[in-house]
Amino acid sequence: MCLFCKIVNKEIPANIIAEDENFLAFHDINPKAPVHILVIPKIHVDSFDEVNGETMAGITKFMQDIAKETKLNESGYRVITNIGENGGQEVKHLHFHLLGGAKLKWEHFTDADPKDFL
Ligand code: 5GP
Ligand code: ZN
Repeated sequence: MCLFCKIVNKEIPANIIAEDENFLAFHDINPKAPVHILVIPKIHVDSFDEVNGETMAGITKFMQDIAKETKLNESGYRVITNIGENGGQEVKHLHFHLLGGAKLKWEHFTDADPKDFL
């Protein structure tokens, strides 16, 4: 069973923010912004590459509700999902990062110079 499935099953503790029948939100253990929330489906889905539209519709509403409850929506925030090797995905269970609480940086995502690929 993967790490996030263990969090769903409460075999590993997490600082849970919100939960319903299908989705779970909890604080990232190693925050990269003042607010760093992870949102996952309770069923195991490997990544965004595998997710169906029904789950995406549900998790979208769930994330919008969290943004309202935490007031992230008032100051702005970012939603990120990493996919596979080049995406930098470490945990192979679909998760969305909700980042905010301060002005976020927007810089090159790779050491390779993007202009070299034009
Ligand atoms: P990824 O790199 O796969 O997109 O993101 C995985 C995220 O999960 C990372 O931001 C990492 O800090 C977080 N993480 C890894 N293990 C745990 C854990 O046991 N508990 C919590 N709450 N977050 C974790
Ligand atoms: Zn899983």
